[in-house]
Amino acid sequence: MAKVLVLGGGTAGLVAARYLKAEADRLKLDVDVTMVTASERHYMPPLFMEVALGSAEAHETWAPIKNAEKVYGFKVNIDKVTEIDLDNRQVKTEGGKVYDYDYLVLGLGVKYVWDKYKGLAEYGYHNYTLEGALELRKALYEFKGKRIVIYTPEAPHRCGIYPYEMGLNLRMYFEHRGIDDVEITVVHPDKEPAIGLGPDLVRFFKREMEKARVNFIRNEGHVEITPNKVITKNAEVEYDLLIKVPPIAIPDVMAFMADEKDPRWAKVKGPDFRYPGYDEVYVVSEASMPPLGLLTAGVPLHNASIVSATSILHQIHGGFPVAEYAPTMCVGHGYNTGFIGNCEYEWTGSKYRRECYLLFKSPLVRMMKDSFYRGWLDSLRL
Ligand SMILES: Cc1cc2nc3c(=O)[nH]c(=O)nc-3n(C[C@H](O)[C@H](O)[C@H](O)COP(=O)(O)OP(=O)(O)OC[C@H]3O[C@@H](n4cnc5c(N)ncnc54)[C@H](O)[C@@H]3O)c2cc1C
Repeated sequence: MAKVLVLGGGTAGLVAARYLKAEADRLKLDVDVTMVTASERHYMPPLFMEVALGSAEAHETWAPIKNAEKVYGFKVNIDKVTEIDLDNRQVKTEGGKVYDYDYLVLGLGVKYVWDKYKGLAEYGYHNYTLEGALELRKALYEFKGKRIVIYTPEAPHRCGIYPYEMGLNLRMYFEHRGIDDVEITVVHPDKEPAIGLGPDLVRFFKREMEKARVNFIRNEGHVEITPNKVITKNAEVEYDLLIKVPPIAIPDVMAFMADEKDPRWAKVKGPDFRYPGYDEVYVVSEASMPPLGLLTAGVPLHNASIVSATSILHQIHGGFPVAEYAPTMCVGHGYNTGFIGNCEYEWTGSKYRRECYLLFKSPLVRMMKDSFYRGWLDSLRL
């Protein structure tokens, strides 16, 4: 029997584990798939923005990951991983368990490094956790000021379109409340809004931001955040309410796997997300995407999990084809409309090269995106 251990019960861990289990059963392979994850909750983080804006409730953003045992058939153990020993193929947990494995999938997400930039931890609100989203929701509801700044100190961060999507959604939020005089400004390291998604999406965001009166200022380097100002090397932007985006990095328990060139990220080998020197270890996290030229969001991670899962099945079965990294859709909504973008990828030998374009623009996208998230979570509700 081959033992596959999947660490983390977020998007990456869930997609890898359910794919591995389903395909192993179909092929009648003797494979044990076990997930170890710290939280009882499988979150859908994009819904945190909806919580902040009052269009989703806290309980709608998650489902119990333990239910994956009944729904998908792999084992789920709720426990926190405290040590990963690659040489001995062992994982230790806070609960005192020691797991061994033949294949390991690391889907432990990223840590938010709020104290990396002066003033970032002290000031402002965010919706990068459910607790943060609930605080931001209250702050927005009680907001009596004029200036809102959505500030990103560094990129890549979790979900490249978030600051722009939030800016556009905020305009709608205030319009629905009959408030017309709020100034909304996105301060971001991108040269142009969402530049990583190519010229079509840049055009889309520029046009929508202009319509929604969302200003854009490029952040050419963080200096400081004070109680009422964001100061960058090129601008001083006053705010009455600050919404901030966290810098990300490899989780502490995986710190020994960091890339020397940029210790935010994991060392990783393409095209199938293996950890160098350990062909049985796969790193499927936003911390392993930038070194391979990939985007840091849930949809790209979904693909990375499928590629990793098929690579493991290939090693067990021999003939099973390793999936190519499929095109990823980027789906967003904002001021009275939404978009679906598509990115196609080509493996160049060291990185993925991508080409992104706009597929579709329609107000229906809001409903599609919302239904997708809610349906995803409903599949884990018994
Ligand atoms: C506001 C917001 C909007 C977003 N919008 C979009 C969007 O529109 N489109 C999109 O594609 N993506 C979007 N994303 C990004 C997307 O949500 C993430 O890319 C995705 O959820 C990451 O999944 P993950 O499994 O890597 O990490 P996570 O969801 O963080 O999961 C990590 C898992 O590991 C577990 N874990 C962590 N440490 C340990 C440990 N020591 N031991 C055991 N378990 C541990 C956690 O409990 C968790 O289950 C958005 C994110 C946010 C915050």
